[in-house]
Amino acid sequence: MGRRRVGGGRPVSGTRRHADAAPAAAAGPGGSRLGVLGGTFDPPHLGHLAMAEEAREVLGLERVLFVPAGQPWQKADRAVTPGTIRLALVERAIAGNPAFAVDGREVARPGPSYTAETLAALVAEGAGPDPWFILSAEALAGFGTWREPERIVELARLCIVPRGPDPRRAVETFLASFPAAAGRLVALDRPRLEISSTEIRERVRAGRSIRYLVPDGVAELVRRYALYCPGSAADAVPGDARGGS
Ligand code: ATP
Ligand code: MG
Repeated sequence: MGRRRVGGGRPVSGTRRHADAAPAAAAGPGGSRLGVLGGTFDPPHLGHLAMAEEAREVLGLERVLFVPAGQPWQKADRAVTPGTIRLALVERAIAGNPAFAVDGREVARPGPSYTAETLAALVAEGAGPDPWFILSAEALAGFGTWREPERIVELARLCIVPRGPDPRRAVETFLASFPAAAGRLVALDRPRLEISSTEIRERVRAGRSIRYLVPDGVAELVRRYALYCPGSAADAVPGDARGGS
C-alpha cells in the first residue's frame, strides 16, 4: 500500500500546540472523520474520556470508537479482566455521549488483538481512508514492537496525546523511526490527566475511593463484580503471550 498524506491538510512533523490546531482544520478536508482509541480499559477512566473528547474536538471527528483489546499480550505479566466485562465497563463509561461508541470485535475475536487488522477492517467497512488512531506519547514509545507498525502508519493518521515525562521528545523519536508518519500525525498538548488504570486497580485493592477518577457507572460495575480484589473476576483470566497490538 502506498504512503498517503493528510489530504489537503498541513503536514505536521512535530508537536502541534493545541492553540494552533483549529477544530476540523487539523484533520484536513479529506479522509475519515473516525477516531479509534484502542486500549485495555481495565478499567476505563476519565483520562481515556478526556483524550477522546480532546481528539474529537480538535480533529473535528464525527465519532470516536473505543476498541477494547481482546488479549493484550503486553500485559502478560498480570491478570486482565475478561473482555466481556471490560466491554461493559467501556459501555458504561461512554454512556450519554452520542459521538462515542464501543467496538467489541477484538474481544469477540479469539486469539491476539492486532491494531493493524482492526484498522484495515474498519477502512474496508467504509470508515473512509485514514482514520485517526489515538494514543498517548507513552504508548508511542512501544509502537515499534507492535504487529505491523508500518502498516498501521499507512492505514491511519495518528493523534498523539501527552503522557509521560517528555511527550514532545517521544514524538520526535518516533518520527525518526517512522518518517512516513510525518504529515500524518497531530500531537496535542492536552489533556494532562495523571490517571491510569493501574492506579485505579491499586486504589480499589487498597479499599480507597475511585470517585471522580472513573465515571460513576464504571465505579458501580467495579463494585458489582468486585473487580480488582483478590479472587475476583479480574483474576480469572491471565493475559497470555500470543501477540497483539
Ligand atoms: P494501565 O495502567 O493498565 O496500562 P492505562 O491507564 O494506560 O492502563 P490503557 O487502556 O492501557 O490505560 O490505555 C489506552 C490508551 O490510552 C493508551 O494509548 C494509553 O497510553 C492512553 N492513556 C490512558 N490513560 C491516559 C492518560 N491519563 N493520559 C493520556 N493517555 C492515556
Ligand atoms: Mg497503559
